[in-house]
Amino acid sequence: MTRPPFTGSFTQQEPIPDAGIAAALEVMRTGRLHRYNIAPGEEPAAMALEREYAAWQGARYCIALASGGQAMQIALRAAGVRPGDKVLSNAFTLAPVPGAIAGVGAEPVLVEITEDLVIDLDDLAAKASASGARHLMLSNMRGHLCDMDRLMQIAQAQGLTVIEDCAHTMGAAWNGRKSGNFGLAGCFSTQTYKHMNSGEGGFLTSDDAEFIARATIMSGSYMLYSRHGAGPESETFTDIRLDTPNLSARMDNLRAAILRPQLLALDRNIARWNDRYDRLAGHLAGHNAIRLPQRPASETYVGSSIQFLLPGIAARKAEAFLTATAAQGVELKWFGAAEPVAFTSAHQSWRYAPRQHLPATDRILSGLFDMRLPLTFSLEDCDLIAGHILDAATTLQEAA
Ligand SMILES: *Cc1c(COP(=O)(O)O)cnc(C)c1O
Repeated sequence: MTRPPFTGSFTQQEPIPDAGIAAALEVMRTGRLHRYNIAPGEEPAAMALEREYAAWQGARYCIALASGGQAMQIALRAAGVRPGDKVLSNAFTLAPVPGAIAGVGAEPVLVEITEDLVIDLDDLAAKASASGARHLMLSNMRGHLCDMDRLMQIAQAQGLTVIEDCAHTMGAAWNGRKSGNFGLAGCFSTQTYKHMNSGEGGFLTSDDAEFIARATIMSGSYMLYSRHGAGPESETFTDIRLDTPNLSARMDNLRAAILRPQLLALDRNIARWNDRYDRLAGHLAGHNAIRLPQRPASETYVGSSIQFLLPGIAARKAEAFLTATAAQGVELKWFGAAEPVAFTSAHQSWRYAPRQHLPATDRILSGLFDMRLPLTFSLEDCDLIAGHILDAATTLQEAA
């Protein structure tokens, strides 16, 4: 069957909603872009956004930050990670995660993943004991949630503090509890390719007042920490404010203004992502060479990207598969490449961390393909893209 090539862009997000553009213009007209530059009686956009995000997330506290990576680094530092400490994380993630661990002078200890692309909980328990690590930076990579109940049981038994990297799980949930609300803190990104788009930006959420007070001072609040939309009582800062370094990672009012209308649209957009994900997954599930990661009934996901495995595929064939799909306009990422490409990399290329032995992860990543699903794609686009992937998988099979 001959299909037309796909001509859409895998990196094209939707425009900022008109209400966000209008709010951004208004902030620029006032000149008060810095979050602490407040006119009498005014609630600046950054404060309002923190209040609104905390309410949407169901977290007691929220601070808006300059990036998701800064949210993770500040979370680790505010959680008490010291230089030389070991920090556990899953091996399937992106560079900002080991980067945040290295950024606080700590050493990543990477945990294997399963074929469903989540952290291997048996390996987690073993490595927690063997390494003596006290912290886990759990990366909910590409939106896949592990059994969060079992993970928290292991964390409790091992005395691990859990920080969640929710860059891909803003809006996801496990048994109805939102991703980011399981451990000490949740870290979110509002960078262009995530679920809300302010170019750069992030959130840190927690229910722990002292933790968030330390993180607020670290974010660069100076002594203006009371000007926050979802922060703890001022008294919480008394013993913290002079003992905590300022790392300057604030969000400004311009970005916050762009984000507020997007938060109002987020639940609707999650449903739109899942329409696209389910449409594509439905097509791919029908091919006997393709394995989709299983999504447990307890998981509420946000299908802003899709992953599939061609188990056991040789590197040469994976490259041929990438070439064949790219020739039809379908931009797949492959996690098995020897060299990092664009945003994609694997643990072998994080050379600032000690070398790790991760045979299961390496085997899984060698057959793992990944694709963005921007909301600018229609459901018919998803049909066409799936058709090209299925064609290429069949060609590969026939050549075998
Ligand atoms: C994007 C991303 C981050 C960090 O977000 P930035 O805002 O770009 O710093 C963290 N973890 C994962 C898995 C990401 O994809």
